[in-house]
Amino acid sequence: MKDLLREPRAAIESLQGERLRAMLALCARGHPHYRRVWAEAGIDIASIQTLDDLARLPLTHKRDLMADPESFRLQLPDLPLHERVLWEVIYTTGSTADPTPVYNTTHDYHAYLFQSRRVAEISGIHADDIIANLFPLTAAPMGAFVRSATNAYAAGAAIFAALPGAPHGPFEVHRPLDYAVHSVERHHASILWGVPSFVRRVLLRAVELQADFSGVRMCAITGEASTPAMRGELRRCLTILQAHGTIVFDRYGSTELGAFAQCREESDWHNPAPEIQYHEVVDPASGQPLPDGTRGSLAVTHLDRRGTVLIRFLVGDTVSLERSPCPHCGRHGDRVIGPVARSGDLVKIKGALVNIAVLLDCVQGLPEVDELQVVVGRADPSDPFSNDDLIVRVATRVGDRDALAARIVQRVQDAVRLRPRVEFEAAHKIYDPGMQTKAVRFLDKR
Ligand SMILES: [Zn+2]
Repeated sequence: MKDLLREPRAAIESLQGERLRAMLALCARGHPHYRRVWAEAGIDIASIQTLDDLARLPLTHKRDLMADPESFRLQLPDLPLHERVLWEVIYTTGSTADPTPVYNTTHDYHAYLFQSRRVAEISGIHADDIIANLFPLTAAPMGAFVRSATNAYAAGAAIFAALPGAPHGPFEVHRPLDYAVHSVERHHASILWGVPSFVRRVLLRAVELQADFSGVRMCAITGEASTPAMRGELRRCLTILQAHGTIVFDRYGSTELGAFAQCREESDWHNPAPEIQYHEVVDPASGQPLPDGTRGSLAVTHLDRRGTVLIRFLVGDTVSLERSPCPHCGRHGDRVIGPVARSGDLVKIKGALVNIAVLLDCVQGLPEVDELQVVVGRADPSDPFSNDDLIVRVATRVGDRDALAARIVQRVQDAVRLRPRVEFEAAHKIYDPGMQTKAVRFLDKR
């Protein structure tokens, strides 16, 4: 099979146009949501012939999918068995509402194997790797957990799971933090695959236990936003552990998109499979695509799916796109350019618009800080018009807390021009890896 990422842009877009027409034709026959929406808008779907024509279709919002996920499934009983039978259901982890199911047929599972093989090629995951799946065992099947095995199969690598997470259910199958550390050691794992906050906890515990992590050469992290300081911290721990390597592969992705791949650390994210998904950066108000290099909302269009199918779906991230050859590896196809701003990253505190990622980053970079949480509340909780109170909660093992507090206040003031209060807490009160799936780094209590 040809590597499409080595073909010229025109060849990629020609294939994408072909796949788009076929995908839209299937939706016009059997996608309840789009049949209704397009009929209401008076759109003749046969008139959408090219990637440029796509801009005439309405955007799909996350709330549309959450309101009625069943209506986003193709319903075409005449398709061959592998295109209609349900292989797996994974759930998007919404922070507020119930998780939303995304349906995958056998066809979609194969497509994900294909995409994962490309991700492995681009990011340097090999057949002789041993992957430690450190993702939590959650109440609803989370893409990152379920797909970790698929990623290993696609690369031909071996994998085992540490099964951390908040205990639930009668079978006592969750495992404590130390089990993760011992498993990595026992299996001589080469890749730690998980949420950054938990991967960091495993590394810190390994340092405490003087565990043999010499086989580890890479942390592949996803599932929560990480800052440059957090990734630097993971490298610092790997260095202390005398690990084989200190690569931090930051996987950008989502349940609806799958994973994007970096060809080297801290670089852009390749769309690993333009055969199966097309991306636009759009103005979310008008729905119009923006030129490459301009920041806007990322929208994905599936080109070859059979379960849940999304057309012009707003992922919820602000990024820009680049379609020129990658300056590092020379691959073609689109690349997502960060920084990735998630909706909700900009928060008004004390009248100023604050970038939460910047605020977290300036404190996370301090090696004395073991755990961190930023909380915004009311200075007087009983008064709804009270001034905002900005609190930085910190866990530390160093003795001189006053000096550390002063440094934190100074850093936050320099970064976001607000003066916080610093409170010291025990690490497990901020983030308990035995009880919480992810660390909550920012909490708005107003
Ligand atoms: Zn590249």
